[in-house]
Amino acid sequence: MAEHAKPGLSRRRFLTGAGIAAGAAAFSLSGCNASGSEKTAPAEKSSEKAKDVQSDKDAEKAKKFAEFAAPIDPVAKPASWDGEYDAIVVGSGGGGCNAALRLSENGMKVLMIERLSEFGGISKHSSMFSNVGGHKIAEANKWAFPEYPYNVDKIVECFYNAQQMSGDPELLRAMAIEGPKCIDWMIDAVGCKWVPSNPSPSGAMLLVWEGQKTKTNGVNVNFETFRYLREKVEEAGVELKLKTKVLTLVSENNEILGVKVEEEGAEKFYGAKYTILTAGGMETNRAMMETYNPLVTKGIANIATPPYGTGECIRMGMGVGATLSGMDSTGAFEGGIWWKEYEPYDTMMDTRINKDGNQAVRQPWLRINKLGERVPYISVTSRAYPYVHDQPISSEGLCETGNIEMSQPDGKTFVVFDNKYDELLSQNYFQQAICRVAGTVAPDDPYIDRVPEELRDWRTGFNDMVEKGAIKKCDTIEELEKALGLEEGVLTSNVEKWNEACDKGEDYVNNYKYKPEWLIKLDTPPYYGAAVGGHVFGSKCGLTVNPNMQVINEYGKAIKGLYAGWHTAGGSAGEGNFAARPLTGMYADIGLSFVGGYMCAEGVLKEEKGA
Ligand SMILES: Cc1cc2nc3c(=O)[nH]c(=O)nc-3n(C[C@H](O)[C@H](O)[C@H](O)COP(=O)(O)OP(=O)(O)OC[C@H]3O[C@@H](n4cnc5c(N)ncnc54)[C@H](O)[C@@H]3O)c2cc1C
Repeated sequence: MAEHAKPGLSRRRFLTGAGIAAGAAAFSLSGCNASGSEKTAPAEKSSEKAKDVQSDKDAEKAKKFAEFAAPIDPVAKPASWDGEYDAIVVGSGGGGCNAALRLSENGMKVLMIERLSEFGGISKHSSMFSNVGGHKIAEANKWAFPEYPYNVDKIVECFYNAQQMSGDPELLRAMAIEGPKCIDWMIDAVGCKWVPSNPSPSGAMLLVWEGQKTKTNGVNVNFETFRYLREKVEEAGVELKLKTKVLTLVSENNEILGVKVEEEGAEKFYGAKYTILTAGGMETNRAMMETYNPLVTKGIANIATPPYGTGECIRMGMGVGATLSGMDSTGAFEGGIWWKEYEPYDTMMDTRINKDGNQAVRQPWLRINKLGERVPYISVTSRAYPYVHDQPISSEGLCETGNIEMSQPDGKTFVVFDNKYDELLSQNYFQQAICRVAGTVAPDDPYIDRVPEELRDWRTGFNDMVEKGAIKKCDTIEELEKALGLEEGVLTSNVEKWNEACDKGEDYVNNYKYKPEWLIKLDTPPYYGAAVGGHVFGSKCGLTVNPNMQVINEYGKAIKGLYAGWHTAGGSAGEGNFAARPLTGMYADIGLSFVGGYMCAEGVLKEEKGA
């Protein structure tokens, strides 16, 4: 640390608290059907000695927790390098691929380092490239967000406004300018097969890899994308090292000179003029989430991805003096099931792949918080402002409902329905779309093999949740109320009002009234209920970057030789934007990764030209 300024936390220097939460409110997993999952009350401490042992253990856990979130110091330049390059790209997700391909296309010698044995990170599991238009496909469709024709000023205003003016308008402008170029370059120069997700003009908003998303199957659509991109990376002469983990940055005189890695059990040093961190976010590292995103983390039921976003590259950036931006912002949908209560010093978040049966609870059922207040639901065809229904399909509703759920007391929304659920979900009665559809992959689907068994039919995951007690199943509403841990009368009184409203055909809330056809009477036992909260795809808190994607220190100065793409970078969604309104942020998550990597390469090329 000696040679660097101490890292600040946020470019605005607002420190939202140390964030080591004192444990979430008690919410028992016990219930009518949850015999195997009851928690035992903490044993009474019988002696002072036992107390000491306990506090020693806590101190140990607290130390480990703090270490998981702490900056990682750089190391000094080695006597000799094990390899030298123009650029080192860390991570083989969307950002890493674009940065590596764009730089090698411009004649640079590039090393790509990936710690896993597989290529493609979380990115390969995604499906749709969310964007705001301006590229050739959108122009052909005459579509742009928030309005056509494509207008960079309007996009900046729209996103900056949604971020409550907390982000960086210059960064948003750079994203709006570079994003369409990135998409056209991927199609024209790299040969990517991005096509609109549906034939309507707004189909251009969600691009998918041609032929990969079938009528019944939208899982792991980008497996093919990353098979192709790996081929392109290797063809381009990028040196790819899998199973190689970056341990820290190498730094001298405030300049980043390369990385120290662990490769086949040995420590090695690779040098480069530019180091590009496209290594994912911090969302699965609970110590980092609690420390740097303490407010939103209370509302996160679980993380919707495999546990790859461990955040160490963000910590490495902090170790060389970088600040963080995007605190308390994530890219999230609603409907994560609270499978567990976190202990104060848990270092990992619970991870549950999106669409694991949770589609069943993500419908306009009766939804209340622990105080008995109704919790609004924004449909994929509704708009939150002005509140209207029957609009074109958009992911906005998923993100808005994510924000709503993460803001409830204890981050919990209690969703209640009855035994008619299967009949209703099988016909997609509520006409939901994207990942709210309770789908079943057809046995003859050409890509069924890339879908894990448990994700082929939503009922598999749903039944598992019922069996393990994450979803309660009870014969009476009174029993369900108890099983959900709600105060007496909180659920029963709502069900009474709900059933009356169903008879009348008019919702009983003043705001965000349900459509009459959504009012489905609770009259057919058994009854089901679950506590749901934020289901996070990616953290949006990471290293502060300028519009050229150079990582900057607390004085706004670029740290020489260091670039970061999302989700290792932060700031794309502003501060305190729980689910990244609107649309889970410009380019959402996989698009953000692609665009960020492309922007890093453009930044490097500019620096090379001395611009
Ligand atoms: C089932 C599912 C569906 C999704 N669908 C969508 C969707 O439709 N649209 C959307 O926008 N988003 C979607 N997402 C989210 C999106 O995929 C991710 O947020 C995004 O791809 C993350 O990209 P990334 O580049 O930040 O991280 P990654 O793709 O994870 O890439 C980072 C890579 O860096 C590597 N790495 C990390 N640390 C090190 C280190 N120390 N040394 C070496 N390598 C390291 C990691 O192993 C990883 O491979 C989905 C995610 C899932 C799981």
